[in-house]
Amino acid sequence: MKNKKQAVVIFSGGQDSTTCLFWAKARYEEVIAISFDYGQRHKKELECAKAIAEEYGVEHHIFDLSLLNELAPNSLTRSDIEVDHDAPETGTPNSFVDGRNMVFLTYAAIFAKQRGITDLVTGVSQSDFSGYPDCRDVFIKSLNATLNLAMDYEFDIHTPLMWIDKEETWALADELGVLDVIHDKTLTCYNGIVGDGCGNCPSCKLRKKGYDRYMSHRNKK
Ligand code: ZN
Repeated sequence: MKNKKQAVVIFSGGQDSTTCLFWAKARYEEVIAISFDYGQRHKKELECAKAIAEEYGVEHHIFDLSLLNELAPNSLTRSDIEVDHDAPETGTPNSFVDGRNMVFLTYAAIFAKQRGITDLVTGVSQSDFSGYPDCRDVFIKSLNATLNLAMDYEFDIHTPLMWIDKEETWALADELGVLDVIHDKTLTCYNGIVGDGCGNCPSCKLRKKGYDRYMSHRNKK
């Protein structure tokens, strides 16, 4: 039995996936959030995810994927590797975790199918393209086809943020009535500071630039 009334959201507790969580909550009768523990430097990220899910009554599961860190050490999990501040001219930045989105979506799909759920939601975006190949639309479409073939099932992967930038992601949060929730309770900072973050890491800068732009346009309206 296929169930279009439920969706599984890949949820990290950051700005993008939390916006997607509320996007899904506005569209589906029931939303289930899943997070992965892959040895992130900041366990705080998972704590944020847990707190948000609890507060909004969302069923939430955290799955252990520490193997990912063992196989692909990277600057998000290893404190001895400093996060690249700019994308390198060739190759991927050292904050890229090989295979991460593929593995996350694959496990999400396996989980969803057991419950007869077809719809998966992920916050990947190709607009602020930071050199992550698995955030591109072509990859998501390809994986969707592969998962369908792998499990003989009709998955539907939704990517509400694919074509919008950070400013528009803030606008979407506002539209969904959760601008403050996203602003105050999510964690995107590479230094593990909730909300506004450290202000200096590449992730904070991107987030703040989008927020300031959105707020200045919003105030002019
Ligand atoms: Zn930061």
